[in-house]
Amino acid sequence: MSTKPGGELPPACDVVVIGGGPAGASVAALLAKQGVEVVLLEKARHPRPQVGESLIPHVWKYAEQTGAAPLIEQEGFVSKAGGITVWNGRIHRIAFAEFGFSRPALHVERDVFDELLLKHAESAGAQVFQQVAAQQAELGLDRPRVSYLDRRGGDAREGSLTCRVVIDASGSSALLAGQFKSKRLIDSRMRFLSLWGYFDNSRFVGADGRSYPAADIGKVRPVTFVTSFEDGWIWHIALRKLTSVGLVINTDRARAMDKAERERFFLDTLKRAPYLERLLESAEYVEDSFCERPDYSYYSTRLCGENFYCIGDAASFVDPIYSHGVLNAFYNAAMTALAVGESLKDPSRRARHAQLCESRMRQFYGFSRSLALGEFGGDGVDAELVRRFMRQVPKVELELMLAASTMSERSENFHRLARDAGLAPHAARAGAHFMEGLAL
Ligand SMILES: Cc1cc2nc3c(=O)[nH]c(=O)nc-3n(C[C@H](O)[C@H](O)[C@H](O)COP(=O)(O)OP(=O)(O)OC[C@H]3O[C@@H](n4cnc5c(N)ncnc54)[C@H](O)[C@@H]3O)c2cc1C
Repeated sequence: MSTKPGGELPPACDVVVIGGGPAGASVAALLAKQGVEVVLLEKARHPRPQVGESLIPHVWKYAEQTGAAPLIEQEGFVSKAGGITVWNGRIHRIAFAEFGFSRPALHVERDVFDELLLKHAESAGAQVFQQVAAQQAELGLDRPRVSYLDRRGGDAREGSLTCRVVIDASGSSALLAGQFKSKRLIDSRMRFLSLWGYFDNSRFVGADGRSYPAADIGKVRPVTFVTSFEDGWIWHIALRKLTSVGLVINTDRARAMDKAERERFFLDTLKRAPYLERLLESAEYVEDSFCERPDYSYYSTRLCGENFYCIGDAASFVDPIYSHGVLNAFYNAAMTALAVGESLKDPSRRARHAQLCESRMRQFYGFSRSLALGEFGGDGVDAELVRRFMRQVPKVELELMLAASTMSERSENFHRLARDAGLAPHAARAGAHFMEGLAL
């Protein structure tokens, strides 16, 4: 894919999208479908590795909107049945089917998933240039100018193009937030570090709480398995060939360690985690698969303006516990495509559209934060924004999130907000079943 490997970048277009992850690829596809001239710059060459393999069923409605849903279906990713958590020794299970979702949640290899979305953006009409990294966006001009480094071919060549709107979808590198100096860690207590790696031949957990050999992955639907331990929590996500296993701890816990020590700590912790050691008993660790991401919880204080939008991880990321990252990227992309499309048609209303879009994105962010970090993330959440968001979300989606939130004991303030939104606590109790034990 260039996707045009040697093609020249145009000198000007309507919209420059920086980054070709789920947020960038989706907004590019949606705008191109409206006939907007979009140039997408992607620093890497897809397929490129990315963390975040567990997707909840909510993502389908956005994939339908961009038109990527049939491609995702055809790819044959692992369909998952729900989730099982062992949190402080208590075991909970939720099954998505019980909430009335007609389509499954997924475990996806993100390199494959993201490449598929990017190809789709290109077939929708966006001009995609990979190995071209945006360096800076000058926004104080009549037409914003994005300068870039084109690394296709041997030498890195500098260039620039002008546009009417810049959309920053550069993920955690958050190019514009860097320029604005607007990136903030959520709270000093929430400096989280994630360490993860991949295993071959791991057993996986089915919705019945039994474990199955890796070879059964196409026959039995797995759940995302989460277990807490004294310092944090661990995910186990069965993919088609490998299994992604990662842990989340406070950054301070590993501050004094070097990378090799952190990898040893990661592997030792897995051996001691309840139930997990049984799943990994005969699995082989994939050497060199160790990855880490420190301080991943942050937000930007500036999201949208008349000629710029920051979306997906470039705007904020809370915590992976409820698999909200890709959903947030899709949601932001949908809101932004609407706002930018309308602003291009009627520039006199662009400030209003930017304001509305920012407010919708903050609502979603507040929702994710109150859900995932309730116990210590409550301060600073604008409860009224979250309530407004909850009023727009289909009841089935809220019920699922309420049920999921009971599984980790982290979301007291989310429960309060959900009650305000008219959701009865029994909806959560009915959805999240206690289990006596697991037959792993
Ligand atoms: C430990 C951890 C676990 C997670 N688990 C989950 C999960 O289970 N489920 C889930 O839904 N989410 C999960 N997430 C979150 C998820 O990974 C992200 O929210 C999601 O990838 C965001 O998509 P995005 O398009 O905004 O950014 P990205 O996927 O990061 O894409 C950004 C793209 O921009 C490109 N780029 C960067 N800088 C430039 C530049 N200057 N010029 C051009 N291109 C550039 C990058 O190469 C990249 O391709 C997890 C996150 C973490 C940290």
